[in-house]
Amino acid sequence: MSGHLLTVERIEDLTPRMRRVHFGGPGVAGYVHAGPHLPNVKLYFPVPGRPLDLPERGERGWAWAPGQRERVRTYTVRSLAADAASMAVDFVRHSGPSVAASWAETAAPGDQIAALAGGGAVAGDAHWILLAGDETALPAIAGTLERCGPRQRGLALIEVAGPEEEQDLYVPKGVELRWLHRRGAEAGTTTLLSDALAAVEYPPAELASGQVQVWVSAESAVVRFARSDLKRRGFDRRQQLIIGYWNRGINEVAYGRATDHDRVDGELDTILPGQDHTRKQASGNGR
Ligand SMILES: Cc1cc2nc3c(=O)[nH]c(=O)nc-3n(C[C@H](O)[C@H](O)[C@H](O)COP(=O)(O)OP(=O)(O)OC[C@H]3O[C@@H](n4cnc5c(N)ncnc54)[C@H](O)[C@@H]3O)c2cc1C
Repeated sequence: MSGHLLTVERIEDLTPRMRRVHFGGPGVAGYVHAGPHLPNVKLYFPVPGRPLDLPERGERGWAWAPGQRERVRTYTVRSLAADAASMAVDFVRHSGPSVAASWAETAAPGDQIAALAGGGAVAGDAHWILLAGDETALPAIAGTLERCGPRQRGLALIEVAGPEEEQDLYVPKGVELRWLHRRGAEAGTTTLLSDALAAVEYPPAELASGQVQVWVSAESAVVRFARSDLKRRGFDRRQQLIIGYWNRGINEVAYGRATDHDRVDGELDTILPGQDHTRKQASGNGR
């Protein structure tokens, strides 16, 4: 078998624009047992109305049939049950033609997709952290906050459509969470996050001791701004993890090819246990 089958068990609308899909089945256990360092998953979606046509894994990696590579999308593993029985992924319900969001719109219990691979990196440890992103990064920010110790300090900036999109997140006492509302503007069209990033006052003591980490994931324009802002401020690259999660106007595959925004193809080379031609677990695939 190539890819781990994920079966929809339950759909939960967290907010009007955020849909959580709970997956179950043996594919989840296969994914879970791949190791603890897979914050992101490469999901493979069927052509609407057709059965799931899993791509094959050959000696040289994935052997894509025409159109298959175009149906892979990257998502954050929002949660994994400790007993490896279920896995949740939060889908932003954006409009327009798409692969993943359209699938999530009509998904129902029993539907199947596949997890092909996974990878990625999480925010590094530091006394003070900045986490910033739009709703596509909300699942990753929420998970990062949950992994923080109670004494963590820092700031989280999350851009969403409006107050109805705010989620009740765990936030350590020393971390300030600020929601930024687009108030009717379309996602990817405002400078809300960039303006908030430009205004951040990093704590001088932690800055001097290198105890600041910055994690930003959002639409590509915000990401470009974040990189130049940190460069201007003299940040070391090891203190930052800045990743374009989407690019307004182009789909994920085209974006990945155009900008190497998240080493999509590198992550697809990860070999998960149970997949054909598994010889050894690929390592160091993350960003
Ligand atoms: C590491 C990583 C983790 C991610 N985790 C998540 C996650 O947990 N949840 C999540 O929802 N997304 C997440 N994303 C973003 C997601 O992969 C992209 O939004 C992706 O483009 C969605 O695929 P699609 O098939 O719905 O749209 P595509 O077919 O890729 O794009 C179709 C059109 O929709 C536009 N579009 C794409 N995303 C959005 C959006 N959010 N709002 C408005 N327009 C959009 C595109 O610009 C394009 O014009 C993550 C991305 C990365 C790199």
